[in-house]
Amino acid sequence: MATMSVLTLPLPQDALRDPEKWNSDWKSLLCRELAFPSGPYLLFRLKMMEITMSSKGLQGSLARYPDFVNPTCAIQRNITEEALLYFSHADLENRWMDAGADERGKHILDAMAGLCSKARNLNEARSYCPELSLKRLRTDGKIFLDLLKAVMLEDASFIPTKPRFVSHPGWDAWAAEQEKLNDSELKKVSCAEILILRTKLISHVVQFTLRSFVGLPPPEFSVQKEYKSNQKTKSPALPPALAELLGGPEAAKARFKDEKTAMKARHSQRVAHCSYLSCTETEPADGSVKFPRCKTCFEKMQRQVLYCSATCQKADWKLRHKAVCGKSLDFETVSRPVENPATASTADTRIGPPVNGYKRSPALIAQVTALNRNPTFDYILYDANNQPKPIDFGAGQYPQLAFRECRELAMTTGDPSSVAIMAHYLCVLLSTKSCSKDFEDITANMIVAQFAREFCIDDLRQRVLVVQHIQDRDPLHRPPLLINAPPQLWAVLNKDVNLDKVVLSLD
Ligand SMILES: [Zn+2]
Ligand SMILES: [Zn+2]
Repeated sequence: MATMSVLTLPLPQDALRDPEKWNSDWKSLLCRELAFPSGPYLLFRLKMMEITMSSKGLQGSLARYPDFVNPTCAIQRNITEEALLYFSHADLENRWMDAGADERGKHILDAMAGLCSKARNLNEARSYCPELSLKRLRTDGKIFLDLLKAVMLEDASFIPTKPRFVSHPGWDAWAAEQEKLNDSELKKVSCAEILILRTKLISHVVQFTLRSFVGLPPPEFSVQKEYKSNQKTKSPALPPALAELLGGPEAAKARFKDEKTAMKARHSQRVAHCSYLSCTETEPADGSVKFPRCKTCFEKMQRQVLYCSATCQKADWKLRHKAVCGKSLDFETVSRPVENPATASTADTRIGPPVNGYKRSPALIAQVTALNRNPTFDYILYDANNQPKPIDFGAGQYPQLAFRECRELAMTTGDPSSVAIMAHYLCVLLSTKSCSKDFEDITANMIVAQFAREFCIDDLRQRVLVVQHIQDRDPLHRPPLLINAPPQLWAVLNKDVNLDKVVLSLD
């Protein structure tokens, strides 16, 4: 059965020739042979077989594993950035829900077919993605929006070292089971490849669909060129029984010829990338320039590691390459997360990732992303025209330290009390006369509404009033954000501002 499935997978070249048929072939295959719970086991065995049988085998798969992980992380960062714009400026959620099933279906099918036609492994990855059921996605608009939120990062200010895996009960259970086994390197990399390709295809489909829906061209897309060794391998003769299955020897021959042509066409589009993580250089398609390769890796391991320049080679040596150069690879080394140096600069000051399963709203992701990009800002408020107005308390000052501590807790856990204390403080501060003209038209009601939207807290108004009540009862009338300020410090902070005199009113 295993061999049969490989041969009868809908082909990448059919995705563009007849997308509807290609899709329905996939659908019946997924229902018939690749359905849970047996599906993953079959696919896992096929993946292991593919790795063992390929000319580069296990070492080749280990070497290219980071080439799946890093671009997937970058795709997810890009989707997040784009989606935040569409959510806030293009009313994406309502527009998608209002579009009919046919319109949604058209964008999704175009995206899937376009992508799967580009690479064999992306096409095969459809077998790992029960989420990509066209019927379900087109009928219920919410399913696609949920899928989008599932691939969006919680902070788009940097490229993470690990992608967000899309949770699915069947795959989660299977992956957890695999993790418990102390398996061979072959099994580990097969399992990891399936999970990462799954994530990569879903992320790409979401991105291409969104682009198509808002009327933008698809993003630039290039597949890494694979190194071909000069050893020619002759394809083995097809067993007669198998040829029969494909509609007789003539039909089987025609099919293989077609596959070969399609494969050549796909391969001619590939480009070689520079191996340094934060470099985006690719070898010119016309072959005018060939990137030099790491000599040691090539001579000892026949591994192709290309760099656009000596600068990139040097930088990558320190970051990653030193540990693996000319050596036999293992799964632990290739799966170790390495932070992209281009985005690592704010790593120390960055607002942390959410904890305890807290899920940020798109509005909060936008806020976190903007703050992490501009670490001197303490918060970004929006005026009546939706223009950003950054708040900056001044580095290292007491209000900043207290505010940031509260902000960290609110943004990583969603703790409503911290949100209320923070919102209350900004309301009080902006009501004082000494406040800058920039914030003139931002009212306390607007601040509370913004925080309620970002943190999805319906009763934030009541909570802020409770915080005000606590301030009223404090003998020194300190806003609760500054409750730990010693009396002398409080006197200084309050001196020209009179925070203690503010009477907060909310509609
Ligand atoms: Zn480079
Ligand atoms: Zn090397």
